[in-house]
Amino acid sequence: GSDDAAARADRRADVPSNRSGTPLLKVTGLQKSFGDHEVLTSIDLSVRQGEVLALIGPSGSGKTTALRCLNGLEQPDAGRVEFDGGPVVDFSPATPRRERDSLRRRSAMVFQQHNLFPHMTVLQNVIEGPVQVQRRPRKEAVAEAVRLLERVGLGGKHEAYPHELSGGQQQRVGIVRALALKPSLLLFDEPTSALDPELVGDVLSVIKELAQEGWTMVLVTHELAFAREVADEVVFMDGGVVVERGHPDRVLRQPREERTRRFVHRLL
Ligand code: ADP
Repeated sequence: GSDDAAARADRRADVPSNRSGTPLLKVTGLQKSFGDHEVLTSIDLSVRQGEVLALIGPSGSGKTTALRCLNGLEQPDAGRVEFDGGPVVDFSPATPRRERDSLRRRSAMVFQQHNLFPHMTVLQNVIEGPVQVQRRPRKEAVAEAVRLLERVGLGGKHEAYPHELSGGQQQRVGIVRALALKPSLLLFDEPTSALDPELVGDVLSVIKELAQEGWTMVLVTHELAFAREVADEVVFMDGGVVVERGHPDRVLRQPREERTRRFVHRLL
């Protein structure tokens, strides 16, 4: 009905937009080792405004590490990152902390485990970043949090503590906490892998809605059917390299590379 349309238009207004038409995020030559173990060999990734990029691949292939490099949780050994046509950040172990932090402010991550503060209520968890880190007025942050919690079906849970929620509800709070930071880019690190199977659907449908509203996302997932449904591009990684990338239907249904074929057949 028209109410729905109005609500959708209203929510779309939340979605940050870039007008430049360049990729929102462009990463080239990303490298990362832990000790002698080279986890990312030389990865290129780019995602346009409003697109969803799904990173798939076997466990240990470097997907999470790549994601953590994108928002500055890991310090890459080498590579260049460009955000929304802004200054290129050239990574080396000597890259100043503040440059890494400038990337971190652009994106927000939803973790495998929700990482909520156990001693804080749902509402406190959601406003912590906006108020303490971003220094936004508390009243505004609360109003925003209330609205976002409502959206994901957690309107009645403001005063609950994380342990009083189901895993799926906790993860939806995790998503709201990321949205409350008003990032340009949402990063999801296997957001449903720690959930009981019956709770996965609710979380995936929230992510799908966000994708439909035009949020730009990089999503690490084992849910290949979901990747096919929401992603604009699928990147298959194995052993720290990008083996194959392309349209989800093409990569998942007609993989060109043997390694992709084996992986996809096992899971689809
Ligand atoms: P994926 O997300 O594809 O499962 P990860 O990025 O989590 O892969 O891990 C890639 C490899 O990097 C694994 O072998 C993992 O053990 C290693 N690794 C990840 N983080 C660390 C770390 N902080 N210290 C040492 N090794 C790590």
